[in-house]
Amino acid sequence: MAETTFYNLIENLENYLEYQRDEGVQRVEVDRAVLAELARIPEAEPSVEAAEELVATAVPIPEKFQSLEEIAMHVSTCRNCLLCAARMNTVPGEGNADSPDILFIGEGPGADEDAQGRPFVGKAGQLLTRMIEAMGYRREQVFIANLVKCRPPNNRAPLPEEMEACLPYLRQQIGLIKPKTIVGLGATAIKGLLGKTTGITRLRGTWQEYEGIKLMPTFHPSYLLRDPSKKKDVWQDLQLVLKELGKEPPARK
Ligand code: SF4
Repeated sequence: MAETTFYNLIENLENYLEYQRDEGVQRVEVDRAVLAELARIPEAEPSVEAAEELVATAVPIPEKFQSLEEIAMHVSTCRNCLLCAARMNTVPGEGNADSPDILFIGEGPGADEDAQGRPFVGKAGQLLTRMIEAMGYRREQVFIANLVKCRPPNNRAPLPEEMEACLPYLRQQIGLIKPKTIVGLGATAIKGLLGKTTGITRLRGTWQEYEGIKLMPTFHPSYLLRDPSKKKDVWQDLQLVLKELGKEPPARK
């Protein structure tokens, strides 16, 4: 099975199980053959020993950065978690850093983002760009970032300890950018930001708060690529954001 297909299946399964849990289902039957397939890891992660050796020489994250450039510079040599071992590039984020209406936050870079050092540039990123444009903005008018700045191997979700290690960067980015609202993309980003275990299907469309800023949870664009029927839910969530900002989506051509 192709590696991306394998991980798409895993992600679909995660979303499905999360939905079932939200609906009150407490037990599901799983065939042994399925468990055996799930246990297979197509791409080896760097050896833990080698990665731990790198992390052992990490420079602590300063408590106060003066600028986004300073953060990006520190991130580029960061070895504060094991994700530093397999990355090609760090992906600190990009966009309008002058109190933009919206800061979009995803969970972490994928293969395209790792290769280019820019957030949301693959297929999911192109969909995010279309969503931003449907709201009446250009991509460069908002800020786009991720919870972790290095690609997790195999595009797996970042681990709690990786998100915790990286969060000081995002927290300081938010402090410098001062966005008017935040849109959290996907369950992992929301869990990392808010520490909530409530599923994204329950949380989406309900205002939350991060560091005193209103935060709207919604589905991740990569989930929409697999299940386009959820696009209307995301559009509802984004319209709530526009309403909060006192704006209306542009008339559709
Ligand atoms: S994910 Fe964040 S904390 Fe981990 S190495 Fe990359 S920049 Fe550092």
